[in-house]
Amino acid sequence: MQTHLLGYPRIGSNRELKKACEQYWSGKTSLNELLEIGKTTTHQNWKLQQEAGIDLIPCNDFSYYDQVLDMTLTVGAIPKRYQEIASKESSSELDLYFAMARGFQKDGLDITAMEMTKWFDTNYHYIVPEFQKNQEFKLFSNKIIQEFISAKQAGINAKPVIIGLLTYLLLGKEKEEGFDKLDLAQNLLPVYIQIVKELENHDAEYIQFDEPFLALDLNEKAKETYQVIYTEIRKQFPHLKFIIATYFDGLKDNLSLATSLPVDVLHIDLVRSPEQLDEILNVIPQTLSLSLGIVDGRNIWKNDFERSLSFIEKAIHTIGSERVFIAPSCSLLHSPFDLDLETNEKTLSPEIKQWLAFAKQKVYEIVTLKKLASGNADYPTLQQYAENKKATDTRKTSALIHNQNVKDRVDVTTEDDAKRNSPFSIRKEDQQKVLQLPLFPTTTIGSFPQTKEVRTWRAKFKKGELTAGQYDDLLKKETERTIRWQEEIGIDVLVHGEFERNDMVEYFGEQLDGFAFTQNGWVQSYGSRCVKPPVIYGDVHRPHPMTVYWSQYAQSLTQKWVKGMLTGPVTILQWSFVRDDQPRSLTCKQIALAIRDEVNDLEKAGIRIIQIDEPAIREGLPLRRSEWQQYLEWAVEAFRISASGVEDTTQIHTHMCYSEFNDIIHNIADMDADVITIECSRSQMELLQAFADFKYPNEIGPGVYDIHSPRVPSKEEMIHLLQKAQAVIPAQQLWVNPDCGLKTRHWDETEKALIAMVEASREAAAAY
Ligand code: GLN
Ligand code: ZN
Repeated sequence: MQTHLLGYPRIGSNRELKKACEQYWSGKTSLNELLEIGKTTTHQNWKLQQEAGIDLIPCNDFSYYDQVLDMTLTVGAIPKRYQEIASKESSSELDLYFAMARGFQKDGLDITAMEMTKWFDTNYHYIVPEFQKNQEFKLFSNKIIQEFISAKQAGINAKPVIIGLLTYLLLGKEKEEGFDKLDLAQNLLPVYIQIVKELENHDAEYIQFDEPFLALDLNEKAKETYQVIYTEIRKQFPHLKFIIATYFDGLKDNLSLATSLPVDVLHIDLVRSPEQLDEILNVIPQTLSLSLGIVDGRNIWKNDFERSLSFIEKAIHTIGSERVFIAPSCSLLHSPFDLDLETNEKTLSPEIKQWLAFAKQKVYEIVTLKKLASGNADYPTLQQYAENKKATDTRKTSALIHNQNVKDRVDVTTEDDAKRNSPFSIRKEDQQKVLQLPLFPTTTIGSFPQTKEVRTWRAKFKKGELTAGQYDDLLKKETERTIRWQEEIGIDVLVHGEFERNDMVEYFGEQLDGFAFTQNGWVQSYGSRCVKPPVIYGDVHRPHPMTVYWSQYAQSLTQKWVKGMLTGPVTILQWSFVRDDQPRSLTCKQIALAIRDEVNDLEKAGIRIIQIDEPAIREGLPLRRSEWQQYLEWAVEAFRISASGVEDTTQIHTHMCYSEFNDIIHNIADMDADVITIECSRSQMELLQAFADFKYPNEIGPGVYDIHSPRVPSKEEMIHLLQKAQAVIPAQQLWVNPDCGLKTRHWDETEKALIAMVEASREAAAAY
């Protein structure tokens, strides 16, 4: 039996790599200083795994920005627009690499970055490879070999982790018409062979190819290509040991394909898909070893040793211990670094902490599981087993986690609770009587610029340098200024500006029961950006109103309507570490009830328009299409539960950022929000087409300007977009608003853009 990891977090225990990259980008440090930090980080990771006793330690899991971009550079898939940087003598390979990741605006050049998108269903973003017809590849960067050699010098015969050829192609995007990216497999194969050859020359023993696409829906062509490519690689290297790593879902209909590939080890994710163990053990060929992904690489819970051992024992019983590997379910890239760094008992109590394991702790779990499974565990190991069992048991019954009132309330929640009193057609009239809004009403998505000042106040308040009263006064002034300004320029539905919020999930998590926070639980989101998701550990309950104070204050300042602003249940769930002792759908329902209480309290406080943001609903879609419907059912229901406690006259808005809704438009309609605001401007309103085709009945605010850029759009541009919108959606249904919240923007550009937006709406109304 052997232990291994699929990958380790590279950002550093204190985000050293993040800081080093940012300093290098801003020109404060030299390339050598950055490289030094990179080297230290990798070596520390290797040493940690070596000391823990991991058998196969990965290399090439390190990256300065993103592992997919690493591969793009490795195989020389460099888009033409970077040619000039690539050929410049003064720029290093890493400079070219960062230009591809972040764009390049210097020395008279202005080159856009490569696109970025989510890595499967995680919150990690990768840089999307760009492919041309008949594209050629060549070994451009030696990173993989260098890291292998570097590990060797540190006394480790590492296991290079390489994005598999098929997965690499499938992650990319065809940048011209008339070909299928899979057609490039034969062009790409020689580069892969060259890499493997060099690794073999340097005495590599194991090589891991990550092929998570084997756990997704594949077409026939992809399946065939898998066979062809791996057969070819095997032919060239009869003696190397190849591991194919799958994760994030089960193999399902690709089971016979995956087990028939001529490789040595197949890694499967038993956290996401525990049932696949039996299926695989039934069909696994004699020549194939099985790597059991039993420690959750995507979440922060301590492993349940008893349960994991039952998996391991079953595998050993069927195929023998020499053919069993144990590992985390996926790369630990998605886990925070080290639980030992969590020392603040106020945000993370010792009772909760004993249930958690971060990346470093997971490494030790793997090693302990091996010792336990080998049958001759020493006394300390047996003690660890006992402790693990105790922690697992207390989690089942802890009063911190289990709140009978919450469970009872979920049980009595009925379909009626997820339904507004009347259908939209009636609500619309009732609302208009109260709200008296003009044609093309204007509004914003919620946040106004979070200036340095605002962030400084919060920091000072947290450090105790400002009293609660002082902090409150400052926020009130900022809110009032924002309300006055919106009144002045003539926005119809105002917002308070969200100055009191650090983050749209954390702000609510901090006020809800059942959430804990870490000090240092950072996870890489993209490049140097990290997020620190809250931990949902217990039954969620709202002990007191969360936003009423601010909404009520803002409303008291003005005769105009102020929109209450909440984050929806699915988004709160999606952007947190979620408990694994009950279905996600149940946790989501608990959050939905908490938000419902808030919505009802806002209504009681006189707020007539309430927005429940759900930007994460689409990204929560399961990887396999066959599971979409089930997810959408509970996700939409959760939204409806949160929104349906109010009178017909109260107008419920929702907001979503990425608005490619073609596949799920009827589910979006099913949410039955009175108004939905979506991101639309960059697509020139194209994304509205799905709503038009569906004849979406409720109101829509397609964003008329892009808030991701500091550029101020002209009134004419926005009028033009509004005309395009009117061409497909009846004017009576349309709202006018930016694409998303304005918190990352500066005030001067925001002012200019919103003034032009209001004028655009007025002119459109006059012309109607
Ligand atoms: N109300 C939030 C804001 O304006 C919405 C942010 C989002 O959709 N990501 O900031
Ligand atoms: Zn948004």
